Amino acid sequence: MRPGGRVASGTFGHWCRGARGGTVRSMRLPLRRSLSAALLCALLATPALASRHVVVVSLDGLRPDVGLRANMPALRALMNRGSFTMYATTTDVAITLPSHTSMLTGVPPEQHGITYNADPRPADKPVPDWPTLFDVAHRAGLTTAMVAGKSKFSVLCAPGSLDTSLVPPRGGVFPDSLVAETADRWIRTRRPQVLFVHLPGLDAIGHSRGWGSHEQVAGAEAVDRAFAHVLRALAQSGLNDSTLIIVSADHGGAGKSHGGLDPRSRLIPWIAAGPGVKHDFDLALLPATQVRTEDTFATAAAWMGIALEKPVIGRSVDEIFEGR
Ligand SMILES: [Zn+2]
Repeated sequence: MRPGGRVASGTFGHWCRGARGGTVRSMRLPLRRSLSAALLCALLATPALASRHVVVVSLDGLRPDVGLRANMPALRALMNRGSFTMYATTTDVAITLPSHTSMLTGVPPEQHGITYNADPRPADKPVPDWPTLFDVAHRAGLTTAMVAGKSKFSVLCAPGSLDTSLVPPRGGVFPDSLVAETADRWIRTRRPQVLFVHLPGLDAIGHSRGWGSHEQVAGAEAVDRAFAHVLRALAQSGLNDSTLIIVSADHGGAGKSHGGLDPRSRLIPWIAAGPGVKHDFDLALLPATQVRTEDTFATAAAWMGIALEKPVIGRSVDEIFEGR
């Protein structure tokens, strides 16, 4: 982790472009022909596949209880109009880059191969061994975008997978406000069908002042304001009726660090809202339902109608939808 990093002077990050080959092809699925009446009603309330969007927002280092203690009105409002659990789990390493890669590939670190947590060095894998959400979406003909607050997210910019992306220059960190303003601009002008937004602020406070510290709880308000900025852009762009929003985190923490199987690091919030999603629904009411970070990938891909040729351990959390 790189608390306290700075954007390099005179530069505005870099864009990821190019083309990457791969063995996984993807396509958009037709709607199933036989549907239960309840499911049909739910589907009629949801937009056609071609008009759908998905936005995944990661609040880096947000331990669920910190989010609940803090004044985070935008997060609370999303819970009220969505389905959620405060008992989702991240990977068993619970560190930023491997965990985010699992969030966006649907497989654990031993499968995607990103086990380091820094800007890649020459000996490191430059991109995951597994296709990301951006890869499969782009191959399915969807437009993709990512804005991330830490430079190591360049690992997720596989050539050809992102139409629009911005990460800080090597070693740098963007403030949450800049990440949110960028996402806002793209939502209004480019309207990407698949958008990932990474807000790094809470993690930096955790490393400097401690997870659960008064400073981190207070700092969550600013993170929430940045998050609200993204939500406002969606609403004002008329995209609320066609967008599934998933908000989660890569890990929590204890003391001034995080990692491993410690539940204070491993438990993460997972909140989804959008057309057809149950309102104010705690997924913990379903004792058999356990959400993992890999499920974010699977839920987003299923919502967008992307068929996967390689199985992932993540599954679409269909329990969030009315009629399921
Ligand atoms: Zn992190």
